[in-house]
Amino acid sequence: MKKKSKIVLILILILAVLCAVAVALLAGYHKIYMFVEEKGLFCDTVDVDIVQDIESERISLESVLSDERFTVNQSLMLVNTIYMLPQDFKAEVSEYKDTTVFMNDCIMSAYEELSRAVLEKTGNKLYVSSSVRDREEQQALYMEDPLTATVPGASEHETGLSLDVYVSRFSGDGFLRSKSGRFVNSHCWEYGFIIRYPSYGEEYTGIRYEPWHVRYVGHPHSDIIYNNHLTLEQYISSLEPGVFYKTGEYIITRQEAVESMLTVPSGCESYVISPDNTGYYIVTGKLAK
Ligand SMILES: [Zn+2]
Repeated sequence: MKKKSKIVLILILILAVLCAVAVALLAGYHKIYMFVEEKGLFCDTVDVDIVQDIESERISLESVLSDERFTVNQSLMLVNTIYMLPQDFKAEVSEYKDTTVFMNDCIMSAYEELSRAVLEKTGNKLYVSSSVRDREEQQALYMEDPLTATVPGASEHETGLSLDVYVSRFSGDGFLRSKSGRFVNSHCWEYGFIIRYPSYGEEYTGIRYEPWHVRYVGHPHSDIIYNNHLTLEQYISSLEPGVFYKTGEYIITRQEAVESMLTVPSGCESYVISPDNTGYYIVTGKLAK
């Protein structure tokens, strides 16, 4: 082959590879976007019922701040390349037990329970390699390695709700080779966490399996997500705004705050309210016993 035609062939090949990468990236984004348009995705195995004619009350977002039945936190924020964090987002974080590890205030006690369970069941101490990152840190990571790191504003680590965990000698993909890694992957939901990027979820999350990245969502959300093999994208998009769902001792409703007012179920002993970063609030009421 002549030198000139060889160069042309190489250029065509490079162009073909670039096109394939562009198509793959666009397809990934498209899938996430399409999914959020779908509704009613609870599968047969889930024990979640729609409740009709529920007694409810209107409350203002301001009044719940001084009402001790209500906890307002950031536990159900959906963060991805479609639902990015606002520029002025402030994670509610504190230091975890003098460890220099900062995490979202709402996950502290759940993480304490999870790490205690890992130690008791597997004999290993659970460590955190990465918790909260501010926008600048995420930006620096992204500049360093744009193929692996997430775009600033689209990383859950900016919320402090996610932790990258490991045990001695087993981290990253190798975490699963340890008993502790397998325990975390199959039991973290019992402590209010989910594996945010599960092995079955790449087409919805856009991110490959990360067995080390745990994300707090709280009960009963972690129970529903884990036991129905859902991703957070699927779960939140399946909660139809204004509908009340009952599962066990909980009532869940996803609401739009109209004039800063929400409709919450009456008669619960406690409530957790979290914005979901898609324009709605998710109210989780725990029924009085
Ligand atoms: Zn992570």
